[in-house]
Amino acid sequence: MRILLVEDEEKIASFVARGLKEAHYVVDVAADGEKGLYLAEINEYDLLILDIMLPGKDGISVCRELRSKKIDLPILMLSAKDTIDDKVRGLNFGADDYLAKPFAFKELLARVQALLRRSAPVKGGILKIGDLELNQLTHKVARDGKDIDLTSKEYALLEYMMLNAGKVITRTMISEHVWHENFDSFTNVIDVYMNYLRNKIDKGFKKPLIHTVRGSGYIIQT
Ligand code: CA
Repeated sequence: MRILLVEDEEKIASFVARGLKEAHYVVDVAADGEKGLYLAEINEYDLLILDIMLPGKDGISVCRELRSKKIDLPILMLSAKDTIDDKVRGLNFGADDYLAKPFAFKELLARVQALLRRSAPVKGGILKIGDLELNQLTHKVARDGKDIDLTSKEYALLEYMMLNAGKVITRTMISEHVWHENFDSFTNVIDVYMNYLRNKIDKGFKKPLIHTVRGSGYIIQT
């Protein structure tokens, strides 16, 4: 899952980004509203965390513009003031949830997970393909009942593929959802990670689940 964080306070931005990365999310950070709006328009994010007080374009305007352009990703607003006004304005302009500063990271993470669950097409956060199981809440992956240990990137890649099971996934789609803004799409890093993942998911099993679609990309299916 790929998250865009728009926050001008460097300390908060780096603390939140670090925590989200530890929780296996891919995170891009923008320090002002213009940049945030631009990134949200050109990339496909699964969630936007948007501070209200930003230099230049504020969070409310960013939110309003995104919604007017029919960009409908979940938006979690952050505000320095716990005022009813900010909350109401944010929610009126299309935000999905609201969190007042200061907040504990645990609280933010719980909101993020709830919003992502709401927009995810599965119940209970458990994705299954054949005997492969991925739990989106605990980040545990198991095949045939045996736990599989994945790195953050491998987990993000597998989760994205499982959310799109049975569909051909191109390298461009993978780079947009699983890698961050400065990803160099000319490297073969996706193929390298896909090999790591296949070694862990498919090696030693009779039936491979990850398949190469020549000239297009990859597909995960039974
Ligand atoms: Ca701010």
